[in-house]
Amino acid sequence: MRRTIYKNICIIVALAVVVTTALSFFVYFHHFSGSIKKDVINESRVLAHYLDNVSAGKERTDILKKLYDNHNESRITLIDKDGKVIYDNYVKDFNNMENHNNRPEIKSAIENGTGEITRQSDTWGQKVYYYARRLSDGQVVRMSKTNDSMFEISVSVIPVMLFITFIILIISAYIANKLTRHIMEPINKVDLDNIDDNAVYDELKPFLKRIENENIERERIQNIRSEFSANVSHELKTPLTTISGYAQMITAGIAKPEDIQGFAQKIEKESERLILLINDIIKLSNLEEDNTDTYTTEKVDIDAVANHVMGVLENAALKRGIRMFYSGTPSYIYSSSVMIEEMIYNLVDNAIKYNKENGKIVVFVGSTNAGAEVSVKDSGIGIAEEEQDRIFERFYRVDKSHSKTVGGTGLGLSIVKHIAIACNAKITVKSRLGEGTTISVLFPKEISCSDRSDTNK
Ligand code: ADP
Repeated sequence: MRRTIYKNICIIVALAVVVTTALSFFVYFHHFSGSIKKDVINESRVLAHYLDNVSAGKERTDILKKLYDNHNESRITLIDKDGKVIYDNYVKDFNNMENHNNRPEIKSAIENGTGEITRQSDTWGQKVYYYARRLSDGQVVRMSKTNDSMFEISVSVIPVMLFITFIILIISAYIANKLTRHIMEPINKVDLDNIDDNAVYDELKPFLKRIENENIERERIQNIRSEFSANVSHELKTPLTTISGYAQMITAGIAKPEDIQGFAQKIEKESERLILLINDIIKLSNLEEDNTDTYTTEKVDIDAVANHVMGVLENAALKRGIRMFYSGTPSYIYSSSVMIEEMIYNLVDNAIKYNKENGKIVVFVGSTNAGAEVSVKDSGIGIAEEEQDRIFERFYRVDKSHSKTVGGTGLGLSIVKHIAIACNAKITVKSRLGEGTTISVLFPKEISCSDRSDTNK
């Protein structure tokens, strides 16, 4: 970045200097050409006055010879009334020069007193400025200067200009270097850990704020991850320790033959718990990583999914004497049927696990004005108000031993929460200790649709 800023400043300065120098040169040249023309006009006026008045009676050509034969900065031509050249300090055999009466500046001088023109000279083959003046007796005196002489004088200033340009460029490069360092200094000194303490440009503050927020978010995710890994290790270790303990007792022959059956059952139960746990961990990480291979978007009828889930869980409910009621109408959303089944399964499963013996469950599915909705109501143990937010955290269980006895992993509602986030859905918990719990999920209108006609969308 430092190099880029430095390079850009240098390019801009170099361009500015070169353009300014070139323009100055042309302005100077133009101005100088103008002032040379003025000089020619003034000089010829003085000469005409001299030839007319001061030197009256003397031969004009002699006077001109004296004045101009050895001074040829400007060309002087004297033309007689009939257009014949009678003096020219640049042309030795001026007697042989062609008649000048047709020259525009001479014509104009004869008619109006003065005449001027800039044209290619036959004699010099260069651009020449001519100025002619009529004398009192009808003769015309003409003075001229080549454009080249103007150009030469202008060109003579070029080395000086180049030298000045060179000096300006060196000074600019030095200043650009200092300026770049000065601009970069606060940026280089930015302390990303204490962004508010930085004395940095206002324009950079939103950018730094974004970095700060990203850092905080990254740190938060990192903390959640490490906490999750610690929890996972702990959750995996407990059943594994139990399994290994019973297996060792059987292998070492310490277990009495009549206990072996019971030990094997415990090993089986713990292994099942492990499988459930690992499955839940996999589901959660798939959801977190937005794994599209597992979850494809399709048109899902929540009503059909809920019916299916209730069928799957019917036996588990029956075992505890729990009655399940269902009220539903076909309600469609665009989502993944795997995700929706997972969500409803976890909610109904919890309603069974945390219910009282012979309790009741009511599942509702329907389309409301706000979008499709599913709710699961139970007459179970309920959740205290202060716990209601926390139950969606990973591995959070209100009563750990109860959760374990009923085969909970502590991840079910985390999975529900992640699915709701993926669908942009809103979860509401209504619960009273000892009375029961209702958990509802409201899907947004954007992913809800009401009839079967657009199945192919
Ligand atoms: P678990 O596998 O332990 O059921 P969840 O994430 O599904 O984990 O639920 C977290 C905790 O929330 C449970 O351990 C339980 O204490 C509480 N909980 C969830 N659903 C209900 C419910 N319907 N009634 C009472 N408590 C519930």
